[in-house]
Amino acid sequence: MSSEIRDTVILGSGCSGLTAAIYAARANLKPLVLEGHEPGGQLSITTLVENFPGWPEGIQGPQLVENMKLQAARFGTEFRMGHLVSVDLSKRPFALNLGKETIHTRTLIIASGASARWLGLPSEQALIGHGVSSCATCDGFFFSGREIAVVGGGDSAMEEALFLTRFASKVTLLHRREHFRASRIMLERAIAHPNIVFRTNTAVEEVLGVEEKEVRGLKLRDTLTGELSELPISGLFLGIGHVPNAKMFAGQIDLDDDGYVRTHDNVMTRVPGVYACGDVQDRRYRQAITAAGSGCMAALEVEKYLEEHGR
Ligand code: NAP
Repeated sequence: MSSEIRDTVILGSGCSGLTAAIYAARANLKPLVLEGHEPGGQLSITTLVENFPGWPEGIQGPQLVENMKLQAARFGTEFRMGHLVSVDLSKRPFALNLGKETIHTRTLIIASGASARWLGLPSEQALIGHGVSSCATCDGFFFSGREIAVVGGGDSAMEEALFLTRFASKVTLLHRREHFRASRIMLERAIAHPNIVFRTNTAVEEVLGVEEKEVRGLKLRDTLTGELSELPISGLFLGIGHVPNAKMFAGQIDLDDDGYVRTHDNVMTRVPGVYACGDVQDRRYRQAITAAGSGCMAALEVEKYLEEHGR
């Protein structure tokens, strides 16, 4: 156990955590960023980001997040890989249990983001890595010349479907309703693509191929008529949203019914000195730029807290 007490620890290295790190580092707080199982967050598994201000031609997500990391490092941010096992926010300094070590810190910025949601079917879980994926940019390459399906009706599903047309011969987009959450521009791009076929009012009942350990098709259900059908495909990609990574804080700070951190006054949790920013607390906007903005707010609050309570 280290006896050192940090001024601030930032949990998560997505764009909210890295923006918080840039601000905290420039305030000379020598922040420690704990990188979890998805370093770089959602930007690191996306493609072209066209709506982050300052990049008129767009910028690749992994490049954008790498730039932020370099910028944070330049001002003295320390990075460490670590999985947070448990926390104790009832005493000061706060104790972060990483399994092999415990880190003590005066303030904590929770920027742990959200991870891909799964359908939760046993057959889907059995075939993850064998044709079932939640990351088109990671796994799309394996489906060159094959027919695949994407589930979802939001921007993620449209983005995945469009990206996967680079490899797949045909992409069937399955959505459980008639109406889409996707922005008009993304939806229209997907509809206009000759290799994307839309099937609305369709739910996945089962992923076929568990015995063969390789996806060979889907059993589908028409959500209006209940009629069942089969769709032969070699790959299934999920684009059905995300779940917040905040379970380890249950009981110590307030979480809402879906597990998002409840904040007030932008980034405040109910524990003074603990702030939450980015997708772990934002179920409304969930954009790279809003995550970055709230990361900035969290770091400014940390500065103010340390000024008021001493370092
Ligand atoms: P989202 O907007 O919440 O959409 C999730 C979609 O998945 C919905 O259509 C939902 O269906 C469907 N879904 C959820 N659970 C399901 C289940 N169990 N079975 C079947 N379908 C299910 O999530 P998102 O697409 O990840 O987008 C999140 C945010 O990031 C949005 O603000 C979006 O604009 C943004 N984003 C932007 C870009 C971009 O601009 N390039 C790219 C990706 C994401 P229902 O509609 O029936 O609920």
